Amino acid sequence: MGSIPITRSNPVSGDPSMNKVIITGAGAIGLMSARQLAMAGYPVTVVERGEPGRESSWAGGGIVSPLYPWRYPDAVNQLADYSQQRYPALAMMLKETTGIDPELLESGMLLLDDPEPEIDAWSERWNHPVEYLDGAAAIAAVQPGLNSDYSRATWLPDLMQLRNPRLLAALLADVGQRPQITLTAHAQVQSIALDNGRAVGVETDKGRIEGDIVLICAGAWSSGLLPESALSARRVEPVKGQMIQFQTAPGMLARMVMRDSRYLIPRKDGLILAGSTLEHTGFEKQTDQQALEQLRDFAIDVVPALRDAPIVNHWAGLRPGTDTGIPLIGPHPEIDNLFINAGHFRNGIVIGLASVRLGIDLILGNPPIFDPEPYQIAGNH
Ligand SMILES: Cc1cc2nc3c(=O)[nH]c(=O)nc-3n(C[C@H](O)[C@H](O)[C@H](O)COP(=O)(O)OP(=O)(O)OC[C@H]3O[C@@H](n4cnc5c(N)ncnc54)[C@H](O)[C@@H]3O)c2cc1C
Repeated sequence: MGSIPITRSNPVSGDPSMNKVIITGAGAIGLMSARQLAMAGYPVTVVERGEPGRESSWAGGGIVSPLYPWRYPDAVNQLADYSQQRYPALAMMLKETTGIDPELLESGMLLLDDPEPEIDAWSERWNHPVEYLDGAAAIAAVQPGLNSDYSRATWLPDLMQLRNPRLLAALLADVGQRPQITLTAHAQVQSIALDNGRAVGVETDKGRIEGDIVLICAGAWSSGLLPESALSARRVEPVKGQMIQFQTAPGMLARMVMRDSRYLIPRKDGLILAGSTLEHTGFEKQTDQQALEQLRDFAIDVVPALRDAPIVNHWAGLRPGTDTGIPLIGPHPEIDNLFINAGHFRNGIVIGLASVRLGIDLILGNPPIFDPEPYQIAGNH
């Protein structure tokens, strides 16, 4: 691991219970951060503008892998790798303690695009098996019912998925069981309360909430919360994604399937998600007929039997996009006691667990799991 260029002083000291952390945003990142801080003995208040757990983290597909992971830098893949190793334990623990099963499934992924030369190096480096399938029969042996025009595929058998609304419900139930955590919903953070260049709480539409440390986990909205004086941070911008959902009989599709950045994700109960669009349209979350038809055409092209399946849901979410896809994790370069964990773009679930651990290490002054340099907030990337 390289040198660790943390220039700001560690804000926590002494008895953890005397250091209150305010987290802005109850998405996957905010809720997992609250959980970890509470486990370390810190009192936490999570402030959420709307319904907790109903934005991007709810809207996502839950693929526990970046799409085409070999196209990403190590800074993303090392977070993915760390998380992939720990999601089975987290899912099991949440199921035991809350009774809600996040439905983590090792359904694997079939890739119908032409194989890219970088796959083998990625497979070796991160220890994921890969099989190249030649001929429709070889593909059908892994997943029957696909369009037989596809005669080559790359099979990634150990890639997992989980069911976002269930993960969020389980995290909310877990957080609700922890007396150190207060979840204040329907309160919008309007600004960070500052005293002499130091964060001392948040101003909300319901009044000020004071704390010793402020952690911004507001997803696509995170940059808007930074004081103007501190906008030299890398920006997080909304990138809309639409998804549709088919109802089918359970078992019709067992594998995730992807082509041309579009994917199908089969859930245990027969629901199949088809996603997703990538739209730069600001903070609006409207769905539209054109996207529905494009996603439906893609789905039917890959699995012809979906022509007869009803579409039972269509939604949009706002990904927290960044220029590089590398999230912003760590202390704000200009404001003491202000931390950010945001900008996970298309990978907030798969890299979220590791991002949260790294972010908490940096708040608590623990040896960080990874060199935090690639994730630093300053706008010099
Ligand atoms: C269509 C789609 C498909 C995706 N598929 C995948 C996938 O398969 N795998 C994967 O790993 N990732 C996927 N993602 C990305 C992933 O969902 C996100 O990166 C991740 O959910 C971000 O989590 P978050 O907690 O930062 O943001 P969010 O879940 O958006 O949470 C941020 C929270 O902050 C709150 N907030 C904002 N402003 C304020 C304020 N001023 N005051 C108080 N609260 C505020 C919001 O209301 C929200 O609840 C997908 C995303 C989309 C949209």
